[in-house]
Amino acid sequence: MFPAAFDYIPARSTDEALSVLAQYGGDARVLAGGQSLIPAMRFRLAKPAVLVDINRIAELATIGEHNGELRLGAGARDQGLELSGQILSGRYPLLADVCAVVADPVVRQMGTVVGSLCHNDPAGDWPVAALAGNASIVVRGKGGERVVPIDEFIVDSYTTAVGDGEMAIEVRFPTPDARTAGAYFKIERKVGDFATAAAAARVTLAQDGTVAKAAIALGAAGPCGFRVAEAERALVGAKPSAAAIAAAADAARKAADPVSDTRGTVAYKKEMAGVLVERALRKAFARLGVEDIR
Ligand SMILES: Cc1cc2nc3c(=O)[nH]c(=O)nc-3n(C[C@H](O)[C@H](O)[C@H](O)COP(=O)(O)OP(=O)(O)OC[C@H]3O[C@@H](n4cnc5c(N)ncnc54)[C@H](O)[C@@H]3O)c2cc1C
Repeated sequence: MFPAAFDYIPARSTDEALSVLAQYGGDARVLAGGQSLIPAMRFRLAKPAVLVDINRIAELATIGEHNGELRLGAGARDQGLELSGQILSGRYPLLADVCAVVADPVVRQMGTVVGSLCHNDPAGDWPVAALAGNASIVVRGKGGERVVPIDEFIVDSYTTAVGDGEMAIEVRFPTPDARTAGAYFKIERKVGDFATAAAAARVTLAQDGTVAKAAIALGAAGPCGFRVAEAERALVGAKPSAAAIAAAADAARKAADPVSDTRGTVAYKKEMAGVLVERALRKAFARLGVEDIR
């Protein structure tokens, strides 16, 4: 199907994009990689009167480290991140895991990380990684700029803290220190599919080898990605052990509230949430040199 009629405005600068968004408010939508928005328009699920294309704005296409954070501009594509020095260096293993499994290589050539966060699909990969990775998003409007922690940015399915007349400018992931690592696992029916179940884990070890901090997030397990506080509590203060990991996995199984669909039943998806949390934790610990966990 063809999209409903719309006006197309190729913005040349962030200021120009924000002026158009301020002018048209809720009638305008940002066009980033278009990998979710264009299909939604073709199905007439979205009918924006105005598309503000941000693809020509060089200042948004940035990937770089600053002030202890990896910062991805709103134009930074999945593939650009996947092939960046930061990912190839191995210093962001959680993000590297995600880069390899978002959609397929063709979609990753156009799709953006910030666009995925703004789209906020319940089965999207980046919201889960951003939750576990303690990310924050810079949201800007004509009235000013705010830095929004990811757990406030994610509001509901396909809904974020970006208001009418605003846009997300960049996402910031804290750079892991030497005692911190993460991992992401997803089950998909075939390459290029959205997750049947997904889990991300990030852990920080104290000097004595116990878990000082833990972040566990699930995807495709509710209306949107979310952190599982009970799973995190099962880990903090404990030595990495099979019992602690099993307790975290059980908490994830209980917290998962998926829907039954062509990808799987509720029971299967809940079970997989636990399995993937265990896999993600074991991989994260292994990345910190803790491999033989009993
Ligand atoms: C075949 C296929 C398979 C896919 N598989 C997966 C998958 O396995 N996992 C997965 O996570 N995703 C998957 N996707 C989605 C893909 O990753 C999208 O690229 C992503 O969800 C949206 O990024 P985008 O840059 O294309 O955003 P767009 O499609 O351009 O925009 C998506 C939405 O976000 C808004 N938006 C975008 N950028 C901004 C901004 N800076 N500020 C405010 N609002 C903004 C848009 O207005 C729109 O509402 C798949 C897509 C396709 C076509």
